[in-house]
Amino acid sequence: YDDRDGKIWFDGQMVDWRAANVHVLSHAMHYASSVFEGERAYNGKIFLSREHSERLHFSAGELDFEIPYTVDEIEAAKAQVLQVNGLTDAYVRAVAWRGAGEDMGVASARNPVHLAIAAWEWGNYYGDAKTKGAKIDIAKWKRPSPETIPVHAKAAGLYMICTTSKHAAEAKGCSDALFMDWRGYVAECTGANIFFVKDGEVHTPMADCFLNGLTRQTVIGRLKEKQIKVHERVIMPNELESFEQCWLTGTAAEVTPVGQIGDYNFEVGSLVLDVADDYEKLVRA
Ligand code: PMP
Repeated sequence: YDDRDGKIWFDGQMVDWRAANVHVLSHAMHYASSVFEGERAYNGKIFLSREHSERLHFSAGELDFEIPYTVDEIEAAKAQVLQVNGLTDAYVRAVAWRGAGEDMGVASARNPVHLAIAAWEWGNYYGDAKTKGAKIDIAKWKRPSPETIPVHAKAAGLYMICTTSKHAAEAKGCSDALFMDWRGYVAECTGANIFFVKDGEVHTPMADCFLNGLTRQTVIGRLKEKQIKVHERVIMPNELESFEQCWLTGTAAEVTPVGQIGDYNFEVGSLVLDVADDYEKLVRA
């Protein structure tokens, strides 16, 4: 992704894509002091743009640093990135991090905080699984306890086990990996939340130790408006067998049906297809 034409917003300037570089002694690279957002623009407008910018500020706060740009300034920067790159339907990545400076140890209060925003075209996150149903592996790692790490931040450090779990899943021909949490309850995938259907009702894990995705919250709201019961509750892995349909939600993933998790199969049924269709209409409205 480094070698292409285009412009990236970097600390208030539009810079050439290939010149948007950081120093090797950046604190973020050594100690994961980095937070980010994944957003999607549809027809020129970023869906829940402000909520994403607010979450970026929240995540930075969880990592004990402050982004030197307000939410309004981030909103303007994102709009500029889309406009300058001539994009209307795109994925937008904002990233804020502790840079190189006075400190090279764990503490980094004197190092500058940077912000960069890039955007590019990105089709279906799970390729043809979007229509066929994704095949999901079970991750060997567990989502950590909220007493271990700030689990509600969208922070780079939380993705270390996402990358290794996704690599393991792909090596088995799967699209993603499902994490259990530290208690052994069903949690989420490496970049998406999960939902299940049984007897026309929807079940999803409580977001008490992982990212409560904006897409997750949107989908729950839409289901409730349609009088479909949504149970946010503890889900045990041995319940997977009893569910009829399953889907993933995320900004990149949108609503993607799941056909298989480990040895369990799910139908790409009418409810999941309706939810996916409804989300598609909503983001383009
Ligand atoms: N969990 C993880 C680990 C994620 O990376 C994402 C994507 N941001 C999600 C859930 C879904 O969040 P959202 O719907 O806000 O994109």
